Amino acid sequence: MKICFNQATTMKKSNLEMDLILSEKIGYDLIEIRLDKLRDYLRTHTVGDLADFFKTSRLRPFAFNALEGIIFRDGTAYGQIKEDLKFLCEVGDQINCKKIVVVPSFDIGDYTKTEIKDESVRVLRDLGAFAEKYNTKLAYEFVGYPNCAVNTFGQAYEIVKAVDRDNVGLVLDCFHFHAMGSRLQDLKAADPDRIFIFHIDDAEDLPIGALRDDKRLWPGEGAIDLDAILSTLRDIGYHEMASVELFRPEYWEWDIEEAIRVGKEKTEEVVGEYFPIG
Ligand code: ZN
Repeated sequence: MKICFNQATTMKKSNLEMDLILSEKIGYDLIEIRLDKLRDYLRTHTVGDLADFFKTSRLRPFAFNALEGIIFRDGTAYGQIKEDLKFLCEVGDQINCKKIVVVPSFDIGDYTKTEIKDESVRVLRDLGAFAEKYNTKLAYEFVGYPNCAVNTFGQAYEIVKAVDRDNVGLVLDCFHFHAMGSRLQDLKAADPDRIFIFHIDDAEDLPIGALRDDKRLWPGEGAIDLDAILSTLRDIGYHEMASVELFRPEYWEWDIEEAIRVGKEKTEEVVGEYFPIG
């Protein structure tokens, strides 16, 4: 399993340049780049600078996070999503980063699961056809909040299966999986090739529907049954990467290098019980 750093973990005080240097120094294999951090970086750097960094590093870019709220949007908002998609595809082309996380919408009202599925399939086919021109994949990330239109693994899996495109899959985030009570049996029945990205984290012990991102904890320090998720991933044959993704305000106050180092240690400790690291 390759170990990946997700920039959300140091979101408040760090920036892309610092996350790159420190992730390389600490020995991560991969990094997930946030769209907002990329835009900040490009105020004082060029995409060429970013490409140059990766030419001399061991660290590789794995995915961009994220295009948010992609379903049930009006023309203007959807146009902006397509603009952002084009931007990420073009940057990705220059740095060889070929995956983009896409996120469903929140607070959409009374749409049924069938309507949400149909709309997700329509949008993911449209965005997926565009991304394919750049040989780029889209990973749909269900969010374990009650007000997210797609909030369980089973629901998201059914959607990406119906999309039926090789370049559209999903993100499995342990926090989101746990937070709305996704079923292990759905993960057991999944084709590992449809899991494009694996986010690892842990959480405080709150009831179903009550968890929010600020309650995330380092892997192994919370209530999520990571053993069940990791052993299931091993059983179904997923072994590509694990990306440590925290959104905990407390950790945002830490020394940046310390947070990036601890993220790697905690992830390796938990993942290493089930997979060889690297
Ligand atoms: Zn995630």
